[in-house]
Amino acid sequence: MLAAMRRAGTCAARRLPLPPLSARSASTDASAVIAALDAAGIASTTKPGRVKARSRDYYWYSPVLRAALDDCVADVIVSPTSTDEVVAVARLCFEHGVPITCRGAGTGNYGQAVPLRGGVVLDLKGMVGYELVGEGVVRAQAGTLMGAMESGLRELGHELRFFPSTVAQATIGGFVAGGSCGVGSINYGVLRDPGNVAALKVVTMEAEPRVLDLRGEDALALIHAYGTNGVITEVEMPLAPAQSWLEVAATFPDLATAGAAAVAIAESPALAKRQICTLAAPIPALPGFEGLAREVTNAGPRKPAALQSTSRVWLC
Ligand SMILES: Cc1cc2nc3c(=O)[nH]c(=O)nc-3n(C[C@H](O)[C@H](O)[C@H](O)COP(=O)(O)OP(=O)(O)OC[C@H]3O[C@@H](n4cnc5c(N)ncnc54)[C@H](O)[C@@H]3O)c2cc1C
Repeated sequence: MLAAMRRAGTCAARRLPLPPLSARSASTDASAVIAALDAAGIASTTKPGRVKARSRDYYWYSPVLRAALDDCVADVIVSPTSTDEVVAVARLCFEHGVPITCRGAGTGNYGQAVPLRGGVVLDLKGMVGYELVGEGVVRAQAGTLMGAMESGLRELGHELRFFPSTVAQATIGGFVAGGSCGVGSINYGVLRDPGNVAALKVVTMEAEPRVLDLRGEDALALIHAYGTNGVITEVEMPLAPAQSWLEVAATFPDLATAGAAAVAIAESPALAKRQICTLAAPIPALPGFEGLAREVTNAGPRKPAALQSTSRVWLC
C-alpha cells in the first residue's frame, strides 16, 4: 500500500529536483527483497506504524521540508545485527534495484535519513557494542549510542573527544555520517580534522558488496557523506582523558561583554574547557532554557536572567 502510494507520486519529494532514476532503480520493487530477507532470517518489518516512524528524522523543524517529506516512506525497515547481514542486505538490494537509506537514531534535522524513493531503511541501532583497542582508542559498532559510550568510557578513564547535543539518542555511525562537531570541539575541532576518526569499516553497494577497512585519510570520504557512498558498520576513534566537568553560567550586561569573556576563556591555556556557549538576551528566558534561567537566578544576578546575555561554560 505504502509502496503503491509512492509509485503513484504521493511522496511530495518527487517534486524536488532529484537526479533522474537509473534504469535499475526505476524498476524498484521491494517485495522480492522482503521475501529474501525473511528467508535469510534478517530482521525486518513492514508494519505501517513502524515503517512510517523509522522513515522520519527531525526534518519537520522546517515547514518547507515538512511539506516535501511528510509522505515519504520506506517499503521495509531492516535491522541488521552484524556486518555480514549488512552485506547480505546490500547484495539483495543491488540485485533488485531497491534503494537503501541508512538510519542511526534519526536525529538529523534536514531529512538525511528520509527514504526519498522508498525501498529499505537500514536501521543500524541493532549493531551495538564497543571496546578499547589501544591506549585511549575505542572501536564501536555503528549503532552504539554516543551517550551510553560516553558514560561507559568515563568509568575506564576516557571520554569522547566531542559529541553532538543529541548525544543521548545519536548513534556513533550516524554522527560520523551525518554530524560534524559539538561539545568538545573547542579542543578537538570537527570530525574531518586529522586524527579525529581513526578508521571506519564500510560496506559498499554493488553486485558483490565489499567490506572496506579504511584508515586515516582514506576514511575521510565517508565522513559527513550521509551514507551515500557506503554503510558504516564500525567506527574507531581516539578518546580524551576523562575529566570531571562543571557547568557554569554567568550573566553579563550586554552581548559584547559576554562574547569578550567567552573569547578570553577560550583563549586561556590555564583553563580546561569543553564548551562555551554565548546566548544573547532574551534567549536565556525563552521556553526550553528554564534550567539555565534557574541556574543563573540561583547564583544571584543583579538583574533577572531574562534581561541578560549569558555565557555558559563547561570548565574543570
Ligand atoms: C536539536 C538537535 C541538535 C543537534 N546538534 C548537533 C550538534 O551539536 N552537532 C552535530 O554535528 N549535529 C547535531 N545535530 C544533528 C544530529 O543529531 C547529529 O548529527 C547526530 O549525530 C546524528 O546521529 P543519528 O544517529 O541520529 O544519525 P541519523 O540522523 O540517523 O543519520 C544521519 C545521516 O547519516 C546517515 N547514516 C546513519 N547511520 C549511518 C551508517 N551507519 N552508515 C552510513 N550512513 C549512516 C543517515 O542516512 C543520515 O544521512 C542536531 C540535531 C538536532 C535535532
